[in-house]
Amino acid sequence: MVRVEMLAVGKELLIGRTLNTNAHWLGKRMARMGSMLKMIVTVDDDLKEISSSLKTALGRSPEFLLVVGGLGPTPDDMTLQGIALGLGVGMRQSGSALKLIREHYSRRGLRAMELTPARKKMARLPLGAEPVLNSAGTAPGVRIIAGQTTVYCLPGVPVEMRDIFRRAVEPEIKGKLGNLHRKYLTFKLEGVLESELAPIIARELRRHPGAYIKSHPRGIREGVSRIELDIAVVGEDSGRAGRTAFEIAREMEAAVKGAGGSVRGTRGLEE
Ligand code: ATP
Ligand code: MG
Repeated sequence: MVRVEMLAVGKELLIGRTLNTNAHWLGKRMARMGSMLKMIVTVDDDLKEISSSLKTALGRSPEFLLVVGGLGPTPDDMTLQGIALGLGVGMRQSGSALKLIREHYSRRGLRAMELTPARKKMARLPLGAEPVLNSAGTAPGVRIIAGQTTVYCLPGVPVEMRDIFRRAVEPEIKGKLGNLHRKYLTFKLEGVLESELAPIIARELRRHPGAYIKSHPRGIREGVSRIELDIAVVGEDSGRAGRTAFEIAREMEAAVKGAGGSVRGTRGLEE
C-alpha cells in the first residue's frame, strides 16, 4: 500500500466559507486508482499550524503528502513559507519558477506584465524544491523530497489543483502503486434494516477479506427501510476483481432476499 495524505490549508475551509471539494475530488481519484487518501488534515493559514502539521505528517512517513492551497500572491498565502519552516530550510527565488510564471502571463497575451513583488512571491520556493507547471493558472505547483516522502504543494483553486494532480502527481503515484484495477458496484436495498445487514456483510468480508463493503442508510419511507450498498474489489487482475465483486453482489442479494428484503437498481460495474 502506498500511503498518501492530504494537508489542506485555508481558513475559508475552517470557517465554513468553502467546502473542501479538493479533498472530495482527491479522495475519489485515489480510490479509483485502487488506493485511498489515508488521512486528510485541514489547517489555518498560519505559519506555525502549517509547519507543525507538516512535521507531524512527515513523522508518519507517507510516500506522498499533498499540501493544497495557499500558493498564491496574497498575504494569507503562506504555505511555502510554512513548509520551509517545517523542513528547516530557507527560501530562494527560483529561476525556473519565475520562467513558468512569465510564460503563463505571455500565454495569456500579457507580455508586458511586470513582475511585481506579489508575482515574484509565487516563485519563492523552499530550498531543494522544484516548480511544477500549472497549465490552468499562475502559481506553479511545488515538489519537494523530504526523507521518504514526496511532498507536492498544489494551488487551492480546484481547476488548477486538478490540472497538476492529473499531469504530474497521479502518474508518479501510479508508478509506485503498480497496475491496480478497482471494480466497484453499488445498488439499492429495500425492506432490510442495517442491523439485519450487519451479519450478512460480516460473513461476506470473511469470505472475501480484501473487499470493501459499505452500507449507507437512506432512511425509512412508507415503512420501508432503504439502504444503498457499495462493493469494491481491488486487484492486479482486472477480470478476477470483477468476478469477485459480482460474486459478493450475488451472495449478498441472496442473503438480503432470505432476510425478507429486495434489491433494486443495481448499477453496473465501474472502473
Ligand atoms: P491563488 O493563486 O488563487 O491564490 P492559492 O493556491 O493561494 O491560489 P487559495 O488562496 O488557498 O489558493 O484558494 C484559492 C481559491 O480556491 C479560493 O477561492 C478557495 O476558497 C479555493 N479553495 C482553496 N482550497 C480549497 C479546497 N480544499 N477545496 C475547494 N476550494 C478550495
Ligand atoms: Mg490564494
